[in-house]
Amino acid sequence: MSTGKKVALISGANKGIGFETARQLGQQGITVILGARDLAKGEAAAEKLKKEGIDARAVKLDVVNPADVKAVAVLIEKDFGKLDILVNNAGVMSEPIGTNTTTTVSEKALRETFETNFFSAISVTHALLPLLKKSDAGRIVNVSSILGSLGLHATEGSPIYEAKAFAYDASKTALNAYTIHLAHELKGTKIKVNSAHPGWVKTEMGTDAAPMEIADGAKTEVELATLGPDGPSGGYFHLGEAIAW
Ligand code: NDP
Repeated sequence: MSTGKKVALISGANKGIGFETARQLGQQGITVILGARDLAKGEAAAEKLKKEGIDARAVKLDVVNPADVKAVAVLIEKDFGKLDILVNNAGVMSEPIGTNTTTTVSEKALRETFETNFFSAISVTHALLPLLKKSDAGRIVNVSSILGSLGLHATEGSPIYEAKAFAYDASKTALNAYTIHLAHELKGTKIKVNSAHPGWVKTEMGTDAAPMEIADGAKTEVELATLGPDGPSGGYFHLGEAIAW
């Protein structure tokens, strides 16, 4: 049962920004639960963190699989009785950035992208909300992207004006809408909900062309996951700076 320590669940934590977020939260003394759709990869990642002295464990969490989502909620309830931090980090991108695919994207790719990046974040959050409500300071971080910004996409000359990847961008815009609506619904509770843009980060998704190292790419997620009582809710941030919706 609960040890009194903070408990965090990070989806897609077997690699990339999710793994680094788990590491940095763990370094703050938080118990980290690494969600991974391939449990063996999750366990290998958790082992690495344990060797660094972090209280880590892995769970099988394919975010598009309702049975996994339910099982994770049951497990956290049984072992901890609450959840303090949920980082909806798992994400996919099926099209190269800058190849605006509004006319060529397949319906399958569009639906699959939304399934992971949007619908799953909602189902995972719904399943865990009762446990987040039991926390003294529940924090939900929806890992979005600057590519979800409608304002910047619509503004000629903005840094992302030419960087259009329709399925991915629209799925992150929808995720941002969820952040705003959920934060409104949870107003007056101890739970804060925010969208994070990690930056363009050297991961499998971000590629080696990205300018940011993974250690820096996790900072926004970690910051929003550990906000104090006066911190914002219903915002969209990169390294403490607000992004235009
Ligand atoms: P990676 O491709 O390195 O990692 C993505 C993670 O998501 C992997 O652990 C992957 O698991 C997991 N994942 C994908 N689908 C599912 C699923 N159905 N269930 C569970 N896990 C799943 O990408 P990043 O670390 O770069 O991305 C992390 C987040 O940051 C994403 O939401 C992404 O959109 C966002 N982001 C990244 C940017 C960048 O420059 N890198 C920029 C802006 C936003 P598996 O290993 O099994 O594939």
